[in-house]
Formats: sequence, structure tokens, C-alpha cells
Amino acid sequence: MRINNRMIRVSDIEVQVVRKDIKNLYLRVHRPDGRVQVSAPLHVTDDDVRLAVTSRLKWIRKKQSGFYHQPGQTRQKIVSGESHYVFGRRYQLEVVERRGRHEVLLNNHSTLSLYVSPGTTRSNRQRVLNAWYRDQMKDRIPALLEKWQIVVGKEAAEWGVKRMKTRWGSCNINRRRIWLNLELASKPVECLEYVLVHELVHLYERYHNDNFKRYMDAFMPEWRVHRDTLNQRKGTDLFDLEIK
Ligand SMILES: [Zn+2]
Repeated sequence: MRINNRMIRVSDIEVQVVRKDIKNLYLRVHRPDGRVQVSAPLHVTDDDVRLAVTSRLKWIRKKQSGFYHQPGQTRQKIVSGESHYVFGRRYQLEVVERRGRHEVLLNNHSTLSLYVSPGTTRSNRQRVLNAWYRDQMKDRIPALLEKWQIVVGKEAAEWGVKRMKTRWGSCNINRRRIWLNLELASKPVECLEYVLVHELVHLYERYHNDNFKRYMDAFMPEWRVHRDTLNQRKGTDLFDLEIK
């Protein structure tokens, strides 16, 4: 099979074009980086590819921003020996059953100790841990917000932390209210900062368009690195679109 490979640019999007002996043109947006790849039949010209990509720009941007909003939640058993992360640092979980108050403590920079009553269910162990993670977020956010609101030049009127399945953050533009995903407490703190900046930038620009990216580049030039850290997942998910 003859295959050739080249990069073209469509609007602000770099597109990798792979020509092969196939019948249809396929457009893919790769996870986690949002890279766009087109597999095209041999006879299809670059202009045809450009046209196909241009007609799907909206779909591509939606997929790319979907990666931004998609946390990779993994369900753990919440038992001793598991790895749990606190602001990007790995701790080994130690579940200690004892009478008395539920409590979470960090020990020796390496152990995350969860004290619970004997026989506490998985979902209750998770609840205790989540409450503790929420406190960690609420301790960190005010100083980070103060720092980034000055840089961005916009202020949130309200903010909160909650569990979200499909988003790292959200912003109600009219109310200037920002929600942050609880799961950010396990990611490096730069990721939390990135989401804060991202949501604050929505106070200038509703859409994830070129204008939005210009703001991000101005306020946090390395934002793409943090975005990729946030969206790292095992395995690859492809979103395919077939164009006939
Ligand atoms: Zn957004």
C-alpha cells in the first residue's frame, strides 16, 4: 500500500494528512492533545482536504474542547496500598480502622492515612476522602484566584468545588461564577491554575476560539502543557468522522 504523510494548515489547525489506497476520507481528532489527522484516498488533493476540514471546523473544535472538559476518573477500592495523588504528588494509602472520628492525615510525605470506623463501606471511605480533598482545594484556591485574577484582569464573583463527570471546570459568564472539579485536587497545582485561568478567560470570551487562545497565550504561555497533563489518559480514544 502506498502511503504518504504531510502536514497542512487549515485556519489555526495543523492537520496531518496521510494518503493511502482507501475509498473514503476519514477525519480524526486524537486524544489527549486534540491532534487532527486526515486519512485520504490517493487522488484527493490538498485543496479537497482543506475543504473537508473547513466544513468540519466546528465539529473539530467541539471535540478538542471536549478533551479539555473531560476528567479521567478511575474508580479505586480505597484500600491500603493504593496510590492516591494529592496535587500531583503520589502517596500510598493506608486505611486504619479505629473507633472515633473519621480523619485523613498526610504522613512523611509518602503516606495518606485514612482513619475510619471498623467496617466502613467503600462509598463512605470515598466520602471521607472526598471531603478531605475538597478542604485541600478550598485551602489553595483563594490565593491562586487572587494571583490569577490580577494577571487576567477579571474577577469571579463566586467559586465552588464539586464533583463533575465531564468537565474540569465551568463558568457562568453572567453570574461570573466558577465551578472547579474536585478531581483537580489530585493533579499538579499548575493544572488547577490552568483551569482557573481558562474559566476566567471565559469572562472575556465565551468560545474556545482563536481569540480565547490569544488570551490564554498572553496570560499563561505554557497553558498547553498543563492542558496535556490534565488530559493524559491510558490508551487512546479516537473520534472518527467519515466523509464521503
Ligand atoms: Zn472552556
